Amino acid sequence: MKKVYLLAGLSLLVSPLFAQRTLIHCGNLFDGTGNSLQPQMTVVVEGNKITAVQKGYTAASGQDKVLDMKSKTVLPGLIDMHVHLESQTRRGGAIDGFTKNPADVAYQAAQYAKTTLMAGFTTVRDLGGSGVNVSLRNAVNAGIVDGPRILTVGKAIATTGGHADPTNGYRKDLMGDPGPAEGVINGPEDARKAVRQRYKDGADLIKITATGGVLSNAKDGSGAQFTEEEVKAVVDAAKDYGFAVAAHAHGAEGMKRAIRAGVQTIEHGTLMDDEAIELFKKYGTYYVPTIIAGKTAADSARHFGYYPPLVTPKALAIGPKIQATFAKAYKAGVKIAFGTDAGVYIHGFNAREFEYMVEAGMPPVEAIRAALMTNAKLLGMDTQIGSIEAGKFADLIAVDENPIQNIKTLQSVKFVMKDGKVYKQ
Ligand SMILES: [Zn+2]
Repeated sequence: MKKVYLLAGLSLLVSPLFAQRTLIHCGNLFDGTGNSLQPQMTVVVEGNKITAVQKGYTAASGQDKVLDMKSKTVLPGLIDMHVHLESQTRRGGAIDGFTKNPADVAYQAAQYAKTTLMAGFTTVRDLGGSGVNVSLRNAVNAGIVDGPRILTVGKAIATTGGHADPTNGYRKDLMGDPGPAEGVINGPEDARKAVRQRYKDGADLIKITATGGVLSNAKDGSGAQFTEEEVKAVVDAAKDYGFAVAAHAHGAEGMKRAIRAGVQTIEHGTLMDDEAIELFKKYGTYYVPTIIAGKTAADSARHFGYYPPLVTPKALAIGPKIQATFAKAYKAGVKIAFGTDAGVYIHGFNAREFEYMVEAGMPPVEAIRAALMTNAKLLGMDTQIGSIEAGKFADLIAVDENPIQNIKTLQSVKFVMKDGKVYKQ
């Protein structure tokens, strides 16, 4: 009882502070609910929430603070469904696993998180690291580190030798035999244990590597690496904890197994064939293309010694194909979410993905909406983020031009507010 009184007293004390309103005068507003811009609008922010969206420039009264965005287009904070905040590509970076301590990873991750936020991405899904990403999420939530709102898988789940087996390519005596706790499974029993371990570790969702991948130090980049039974066990166990499952997949067979087993998203999807496209549509699975990662990996592979010898040919073969796959999938009616695989390219360039999506035939407004309400729904956060509406978190960005006419304007975000706090102005 005492506690209740104390809390009530505290909120009385605090409430006058939060009564201060911030009025954002928007030259144009793209609120994320429709396809068009509304001229001369005011977004009212109180505390960390949007409390009203009003026509015209609402006049300030009393304690109100005004942010003049009359020369800008204001949009909801962008959402990226596929980032890796712990790492960033660099020549010879394959050695980092042997030389960097978790604290080293944490400091760089804090920097990448900030860069991501400053690029206008106010929410991201971290699809795999060592587990430092869980601590990073907590540090951002606690206000210790400036970064986007993070939902993280912690460590991705692979099979032995598969993409995301953490000791691939190691010397034999260092290789060991990682198991479910480290995110390596063989069989449904292991699959369940690995999911439960992720829950214990504090993950928000699950990622599996359904096929080989480009950047792991292993030969195969696209073959199936999970049985359908294993994926099914992951998906079933994940359901018990309310976890969605994201599946990395380049090759068609692994992709199909993952779709049939009920994953929510397929990442990269490079070699999807017509049958896979039909399965996407039948199961309502979303495709997260990551075109920019494919292009960047292919470009980097052309520089001798950038990647280990096993990785180079995979990057050259798989990387350049993603954009055409995206074009085909979009045309065929596959549902598209926005995700980039940041970390595989330099953090902060996430918005280039929009340009590549538009280049491949998607109308700009659809590409933008993929990074807003589509992603918000997939994260189960559509009542909180993804649009500028009363009651949602005050996550807002501003750009100089109309992004529907010039999608590249999203690559130079001029204003960032997250949770009602201004980070860039
Ligand atoms: Zn990735």
